[in-house]
Amino acid sequence: MLVKPAICYHQTAMSAGYVYDPIYLKHDTGQHVEVAARLVAIIAYLEKTGLTSQLTLIEPRPATVDEIALVHRRDYIKGIEEKAAGGGGWLDPDTVMSAGSYEAALYAAGGLIRAVEAIMGGEVSSAFALVRPPGHHATSRQAKGFCLFNNIAIAARYALDKYKLERILIIDFDVHHGNGTQEAFYDNPRVMYISTHQYPFYPGTGSLDETGGGAAKGTNINIPLPAGCGDAEYLKVFEQIIVPAARRFNPQLILVSAGYDNHWADPLAMMEVSVTGFGQMTEIIKGLADELCGGRLAITLEGGYNLDALAASVKATFDILLGNNASDPLGQSSRSFGTADIDRLIEAIKEIHKLP
Ligand SMILES: [Zn+2]
Repeated sequence: MLVKPAICYHQTAMSAGYVYDPIYLKHDTGQHVEVAARLVAIIAYLEKTGLTSQLTLIEPRPATVDEIALVHRRDYIKGIEEKAAGGGGWLDPDTVMSAGSYEAALYAAGGLIRAVEAIMGGEVSSAFALVRPPGHHATSRQAKGFCLFNNIAIAARYALDKYKLERILIIDFDVHHGNGTQEAFYDNPRVMYISTHQYPFYPGTGSLDETGGGAAKGTNINIPLPAGCGDAEYLKVFEQIIVPAARRFNPQLILVSAGYDNHWADPLAMMEVSVTGFGQMTEIIKGLADELCGGRLAITLEGGYNLDALAASVKATFDILLGNNASDPLGQSSRSFGTADIDRLIEAIKEIHKLP
């Protein structure tokens, strides 16, 4: 498993990488929805469909404790290490870990850091870190919602410091609000956090009026959607809120918390997005990265619990990164909730954030 050298003079505009390592399967959650089989299904599908041969494998490394501590308290990190050494156990009613979870979690954060390094070093223009445990619910001092360390927050803090960046945009389209990521950058004007999520719903945060504190006011944009939203509603908020907000912020790097638990077949939530919809969202995000920051786009896996929908949606995401046509083997939802009326919500968010 070779990784391309840091400087590659012959890369194409479409070069995309993926982070994966079997170490992520060592986070053993037992009887749970967030299981190792998720990544096994994704990798098997990418291999079966020939996608992996079009991608550059980026080998992960463990994040250092100092890197994890960019976001998390050191006593919390120590606690996770000690819990793993003791064989694991439950951390909250949803979140469980095993003996291998500490190491897997270090590699999950380190995997996304490596993706950022590969992008900033010019090895690839975009990359998707296929890692677990996921991260966006983890706060500075608390494991939550299947998450131990907040991979995307750690990678963003790392990128700010290492590459002296001034503006990073995080887009989080997981069906749940990324409370941990919001917390990490709530008062930091250098990171804009935009989240679409079912609301009201777990974890309870993510209302319209959480907009950032102090000098960071306006850099936290929540898009709390009613249950039943599908491709049309998501595309509307992407086009009418996320695109103008991203253009105004003008990021130097875009990071994405990609959760596929808003797929219609997902067992945890009540959204109606299709694989095609995820492809269209990725197309918009990739378009923003190409327009605003030289294509620099790093994606990390958060949720998604129907294995077929997850694997097909991740493949569609890669297809867009590569410039391929994406396909949708699952089609549209057969349920009909009717189109959710989100126009007033969009107007309210535009008003709050003074968007055109
Ligand atoms: Zn989720």
